[in-house]
Amino acid sequence: MTSIFQPLSCTDDYDPDSLHVDSARALILDLIRPVSGDERVVVHQALDRVLAEDVISPIDVPAHDNSAMDGWAVRFGDLAGSDQTAGETRLKNIGTALAGKAFAGKVGPGETVRIMTGAILPQDADCVVIQEVARVEDDAVIIPPGQQRKQNTRRAGEDLQAGRPAIATGKKLRPAEIGIIASLGIGEVTVRRRVRVALFSSGDELCSIGTPLASGEVYDSNRYTLWGMLTRLGCEVIDMGVVRDDPVALEAAFREAAGNADAIITSGGVSVGEADFIKQLMARLGEVAFWKIAMKPGRPMAFGLIQPEDADGLKAHGAWLFGLPGNPVAVMVTFYQFVRPALLKMAGVDPVPPVPAFSVRCTEAMKKGRGRTEFQRGILFQENGEWCVRPTGAQGSGVLRSMAEADCFIVLEHEREKVGAGDTVHVQLMSGLV
Ligand code: AMP
Ligand code: MG
Repeated sequence: MTSIFQPLSCTDDYDPDSLHVDSARALILDLIRPVSGDERVVVHQALDRVLAEDVISPIDVPAHDNSAMDGWAVRFGDLAGSDQTAGETRLKNIGTALAGKAFAGKVGPGETVRIMTGAILPQDADCVVIQEVARVEDDAVIIPPGQQRKQNTRRAGEDLQAGRPAIATGKKLRPAEIGIIASLGIGEVTVRRRVRVALFSSGDELCSIGTPLASGEVYDSNRYTLWGMLTRLGCEVIDMGVVRDDPVALEAAFREAAGNADAIITSGGVSVGEADFIKQLMARLGEVAFWKIAMKPGRPMAFGLIQPEDADGLKAHGAWLFGLPGNPVAVMVTFYQFVRPALLKMAGVDPVPPVPAFSVRCTEAMKKGRGRTEFQRGILFQENGEWCVRPTGAQGSGVLRSMAEADCFIVLEHEREKVGAGDTVHVQLMSGLV
């Protein structure tokens, strides 16, 4: 065990040959630090970027007390009473307040102003009576009893207050935050630079698109699913293609990747049969742990730090390596469980949110191995108004169709035993993952 993993050897339950999914994720997140570097971008380019500064509101939003409804601005004290048994109140209509065109005067005793949604509340008015309940007779407005002080009004600053943080550093900007930034009149924000991820597939059996398959070969699909997942996460992807199972070629690829990227993702080559020669190579390149994670699919995985060629202080430290298994479904499952939260942390997302899981009824029985977490692929559907899940067909770790057909993972926890038809299971929605 080398230095970055030193703290792990003190952890009671650290067993690299049978690591709980939650422990592996926690160990990775504990070591990863956000990348440094940021840039200014205009609001339209800030979507899905990670905020590198607090956005401080320069103004109150809304800027003034205003009406939440179309109706009549009144002085609550003028009304006969809030009690339903009190009588009606007759007020004199003295003008109109429109959104963007305020009423210039003030509302005196016995007076009212016609007001539209978003219009500034005229001076001395403190209550809006909706137009549906008021009656107009000539220039008199009849207000029924039962009104409340401040009803149908919005206070200045009730959404955002001048001088206070409106959005905190570390937030990944979604359409709602983009809207908030615009509502403050801010045109540019500072965001973290994108995380650079180098990517290659390893395996002598891999064939690239455009070349006919020879006997025993498969097309390299992992590089494409990984590219898709990384792009969705907002990473800058450096695609290094396929690298042969050859120590010289692999060493050169790892060195180059470590020199250019914050993280390296490989697929294949970490299963038991291949790990030995990779292990020797890794021992020269950096500090890498080879884990057997108690999960299905995705048992073998390598994680560690790879140094670039000239590691003499030119770069603070190398690139984090995620050596994923070769099977296409295992690649996606391990990416979502381990690489995604790690890349979010590297990107500066703070806090990294846990992926929510929901309880639903599973309509089919499922086998489950003991002492491991399983990520079966499921399809959600409604039955008599209740959301239910069923597994997709074949669940082999090479059956990528099971991912394409699925809209959720059925997460069968470590301790869980078999699932009977009708039992409750936890699901994680795929659409929320990226
Ligand atoms: P490995 O982990 O290298 O032993 O590979 C396990 C399985 O995944 C083998 O059947 C490989 O052919 C397959 N595999 C490995 N890499 C890829 C890839 N890039 N694209 C598609 N399948 C792959
Ligand atoms: Mg291989």
